[in-house]
Amino acid sequence: MLSVSDARARILSHFQNTTEETLPLIQCANRVLAVDVTAAHDLPLFNNSSMDGFAIRAVDSQGAEVDSPLTLKVVADIPAGSAPTVILTKGQATRIMTGAQLPQGADAVIPVEDTDFNSREAGTVAPQTVSFARNVKAGENVRPRGMDLHAGDIVLRKGRKLKPQDLGLLAMLGIANVEVYKKPLVALFSSGDELIEVDAPLTDGKIHDSNSYALAALIESTGAELLRLGVAKDTRESVTDLLEKAANEKVDLIISSAGVSVGAFDYIKEVIESNGKLDFWRVNMRPGKPLAFGEYRNKPFVGLPGNPVSAFVGFEVFVRPMLEKLSGQLDGSRLKIKVRCDEEIESDGRESYLRAKIRNEEGVYIATLTGHQGSGNLLSLVQADALLIIPAGVKCVPVGQEVEALLL
Ligand code: AMP
Ligand code: MG
Repeated sequence: MLSVSDARARILSHFQNTTEETLPLIQCANRVLAVDVTAAHDLPLFNNSSMDGFAIRAVDSQGAEVDSPLTLKVVADIPAGSAPTVILTKGQATRIMTGAQLPQGADAVIPVEDTDFNSREAGTVAPQTVSFARNVKAGENVRPRGMDLHAGDIVLRKGRKLKPQDLGLLAMLGIANVEVYKKPLVALFSSGDELIEVDAPLTDGKIHDSNSYALAALIESTGAELLRLGVAKDTRESVTDLLEKAANEKVDLIISSAGVSVGAFDYIKEVIESNGKLDFWRVNMRPGKPLAFGEYRNKPFVGLPGNPVSAFVGFEVFVRPMLEKLSGQLDGSRLKIKVRCDEEIESDGRESYLRAKIRNEEGVYIATLTGHQGSGNLLSLVQADALLIIPAGVKCVPVGQEVEALLL
């Protein structure tokens, strides 16, 4: 049977990033950059004050002390957003606000609270003179031009998923339109005669379709667009019908859950093969062994297992990396850390993903399993912070041993 890493490599080799589109900056949160972004100008763009106070020549403050304060003449008032016209000379100061451009000649700012000018209310006019009783160093409270970055610097790399702070930086650089990758479109359906809608009354033998909710949210968490197709019955016709619906749209991937096992009513594999091909349908892992990959009418297809935890794990292990690659993202968004097991863990030798809570004890991450690990027990997944990865071939992990954990 295929190992997890071989299966993942096989899957990923089928995918490339989507094409690019240019979007207004406001629509670019969580989108993936399709180009390197280079700064067209320095930041800050001009020397400016980091405090409300008085711009001075530092040399004019030398010798100021509590017993012998110095007084400078205030020759201008510089609010934020104005371009100063004065050039400071010996003995002169200007009032200046945070973010305002420093006048020529000035090289420091003394904060208003370190001066004799105590009026802070909005609307107060600048004083004629200002006194202070301490030395000011050149550069104090000044944010010099280019302090943060220079024109020509690459500030964001292709393949980065844009965070809110990235949008702020792009705006600072005056970049109004951004080249990003198109969102992948993913079709999703569940399958099984036992499934009913979440708002339908439960009758004998029926259960609510939960996979289509969890998987929809997972798909959208990657930034992909979702096409929800509902539930297929356990018949050839119904499965075909939904696969046809998916294939008739411009989807980048079709995902189903359930019906890929060896049950008498598991039609998915057969229908896929009737109009496409199956690359594999089992992976040596737990939970989630019945996991199919192939294509239907040339559209990539993943058949996740039906059990809710298996479907989730299959998504995290195979589909998330796939959608990240499709969306052009270069760094995976799930972190793996080393954790120490709080209890002995038995495994059956397949690569296993176990639900665990993680706590930090004096700098060491400790993992405790969250209840029984049956693949239908969604509550223990809800309670988990991470999936512990027990490698293939390992039958027992003793207390205190380190394993990798995929943070959720
Ligand atoms: P199957 O792969 O069709 O044999 O399904 C395996 C298990 O997953 C069965 O217990 C199903 O009832 C359950 N199951 C399948 N689809 C869903 C779903 N959409 N939501 C919740 N449970 C499901
Ligand atoms: Mg079924």
